[in-house]
Amino acid sequence: MEQTFIMIKPDGVQRGLVSPIPRLYTEQPLRACLNLAIGFCSGLLEPSLIIGFVFAISLLQIGDIISRFEKKGYYLKAMKFMNVEKSFAQQHYADLSAQPFFAKLVDYIISGPVVAMVWEGKDVVLTGRRIIGATRPWEAAPGTIRGDHAVEVSRNVIHGSDSVENGKKEIALWFPGGLAEWKSNLHPWIYEN
Ligand code: UDP
Ligand code: MG
Repeated sequence: MEQTFIMIKPDGVQRGLVSPIPRLYTEQPLRACLNLAIGFCSGLLEPSLIIGFVFAISLLQIGDIISRFEKKGYYLKAMKFMNVEKSFAQQHYADLSAQPFFAKLVDYIISGPVVAMVWEGKDVVLTGRRIIGATRPWEAAPGTIRGDHAVEVSRNVIHGSDSVENGKKEIALWFPGGLAEWKSNLHPWIYEN
């Protein structure tokens, strides 16, 4: 199946579009209290459960951006939270090195941590770009990530590979160690084969 490289840029990270827990607490305080109570009780029974519990809610509620790919039916194959070196950002955006905004773009990408991911699924490159929305947020349709969460082209929250071939290059650059092998038990309910 097709794979694409998706990166939540530093502005997406800073604005809390990734981290589920602060959003859970501010937007759904009752649910957050219930979660805490369950976590506390299970921690009393078995301390290792509390770690499992925290891990489970962070996986289940992995943030607005990530959940869009999950809900669609795509597989998360790799993910890391990291700071990027300048030379690495230049390499990632090498195709744009002649553009007047290149230096600013590189500075933006290294301005804070990013979330780098690989997603897999049918037509994930093109459909991923549709989920993300147009490069310029003012042209991105409402309902897309950039349409919902961004204003400026230079602060457009997320990157997605623009072709299968570039996806392969970007995945090799960001995840030289390889990807996770897995399939959801729901696979036959999402895919015909
Ligand atoms: N960008 C920018 N100014 C521009 C065009 C692009 O700052 O006028 C940035 C923007 O963050 C964009 C990235 O450069 O996401 C890469 O540009 P590309 O054309 O590849 O857009 P994308 O594939 O990200 O939609
Ligand atoms: Mg691009």
